Amino acid sequence: MSDLDARPAARVLGGTAETPARPVLDLLPGKEVQLGRSTRVRRLLPTLGRRLVGAWAFVDHYGPDDIATGRGMQVAPHPHTGLQTVSWLLQGRVHHRDSLGSDVEFGPGELALMTAGHGISHSEQSPVSHPRYLHGAQLWVALPDSAREVAPAFEHHAVLPGFTSDGLTATVLMGSLGGATSPGTAYTPLLGVDLDLAAGADVELALEPDFEHALLGASGGADVEGAPLGHGQLLYLGTGRRTVRIRTETPAKLLLLGGEPFEEQLVMWWNFVGRSGEEIATYAEQWDAEHERFGTVVGYDGDRLPAPALPPVALKPRGRER
Ligand code: MN
Repeated sequence: MSDLDARPAARVLGGTAETPARPVLDLLPGKEVQLGRSTRVRRLLPTLGRRLVGAWAFVDHYGPDDIATGRGMQVAPHPHTGLQTVSWLLQGRVHHRDSLGSDVEFGPGELALMTAGHGISHSEQSPVSHPRYLHGAQLWVALPDSAREVAPAFEHHAVLPGFTSDGLTATVLMGSLGGATSPGTAYTPLLGVDLDLAAGADVELALEPDFEHALLGASGGADVEGAPLGHGQLLYLGTGRRTVRIRTETPAKLLLLGGEPFEEQLVMWWNFVGRSGEEIATYAEQWDAEHERFGTVVGYDGDRLPAPALPPVALKPRGRER
């Protein structure tokens, strides 16, 4: 997915000065953002309250949207650098095309993992004939300096490992939990797990205490360590947790995100992650000049998304702000 804001704000991310060295329960309600003409999403990261959870740098939650009479998701070719995109559906299907020639449809329970690295471009569309509801999350993972120039790649994992216990069905998208390890390629210690909870579930998950974690209420809500987590909200859990207890009264789907606090400072603007304002400006100029860095999306019928105007003030990396 692309940040379609006509005037995207520059985000300065990274550094661990504001990462609490203890467990916390900070509810981040996020904000509604219009993406293009038809789609509204809840932007949960970055927000004023928090900019990163491990290397997770961007979290949009959308739907469920009734797209029976519309075209659904229509995101024209656009570029990325320095990040991975993790596409996760609860309902619906998405057709992904990219400049590597990937041409893949995926649905709920399948991991679509795109590593932009040096540069890639892609499009995302609801198939012409699509299910009635579209519901999912679009997540970005910042790449560390050692990996941000890797060759671009696209992985589609239709079957993922997981485990069940006490009313929970867990599916591991990224990293490892409960003895299950995702086949998805990660470049920093990272965790992403879909938690499908039955009504009346009461589970305690073992966590890596060196990680920071957050839980997204993707469908329904839950009680997390006594705190309520609602649909479309993100609950930041801090660091230093060895376990988290989750209880439900009604069925719920949560997304558990975690990772080692990301120490490098970086600049995020539009669909790019870089390390300086000059680098970001170069990416934007190269995209508009159809530079070979981003290739050409194979098989997409239509125009590309132009880069928005760069902000008038130079983008400078700084420490993490709250
Ligand atoms: Mn995208």
